[in-house]
Amino acid sequence: MKISVLGTSAATGMPLAFCNCTVCMQSRILGGKNIRKRSSIVINDELMIDLGPDSMNACNMYGIDAGRIKYLLQTHSHSDHFDAGHFVTRWSDYATKGLGHLDIVCSQGTAEDMNHWINENESIDLFDKKWQEDLKYKLHIVKHGEITRLGEYEIVAVDSKHDPRVEALVYIISSNGKSIFYGTDMLKISEDAWKILENHRFDAVFLDQTYGKGFNAGGHPDAGMVSDYVKTMKSKGIIDEKTVVYATHISHEGNAAHEEMEKEAKANGYKIAYDGMKLTL
Ligand SMILES: [Zn+2]
Ligand SMILES: [Zn+2]
Ligand SMILES: [Zn+2]
Repeated sequence: MKISVLGTSAATGMPLAFCNCTVCMQSRILGGKNIRKRSSIVINDELMIDLGPDSMNACNMYGIDAGRIKYLLQTHSHSDHFDAGHFVTRWSDYATKGLGHLDIVCSQGTAEDMNHWINENESIDLFDKKWQEDLKYKLHIVKHGEITRLGEYEIVAVDSKHDPRVEALVYIISSNGKSIFYGTDMLKISEDAWKILENHRFDAVFLDQTYGKGFNAGGHPDAGMVSDYVKTMKSKGIIDEKTVVYATHISHEGNAAHEEMEKEAKANGYKIAYDGMKLTL
């Protein structure tokens, strides 16, 4: 399984447009891994998790042919994770040629919100068969705990508790004996989520670290929680010494420059993801 990391920032991107905090100023000076686009990954050049506002730029930068994406898993519909402007270019009116079929996996609430954003751009109705034929996609509406099989992939939906209004989800993706957990955006790993995670042994794990340690403005985990999750996953046998664990969805609040974050993360058994990172499991 090949994983291409397209973006690793929280909703704002890094640095923030108008921010002059130490982290954002360092980000501008140091560049490289300190410049972060909105969070998204691609598996095996064909399965994308979250079609965000930076996803197309990232695909072009990191050698991913977005025209070959066959599967789209949406964690939720917040504007840093779903960009309706990219999606509507599937419409025949945009003269897109050679459009391939797209399977979309998301919760009912996420699909309804995506439809709202799509309607802000065009008169397309995400749930209408006529539009589904024109834009060549199929919606797979899932709930917490449900398993979807698409091509070589087994996808398990897990409640992230991040946005109960839309039943925001995170996903376990397994293929050819390899398995990953992509856990952004999360409020926390709930008891219900642990029950599902406990049945897996992951080769790679991505965890939301929006905030630095002891700095939590709500809605997402911080570095202290990520460290605790790594310990708990080890003690439950969900991960072992071969598993690679990465923090993603990083904001400037309480976090630091990449190198500094790496040192703290290493001491707690995980790493910090960066844009353009490629992993082969
Ligand atoms: Zn987010
Ligand atoms: Zn800042
Ligand atoms: Zn969100």
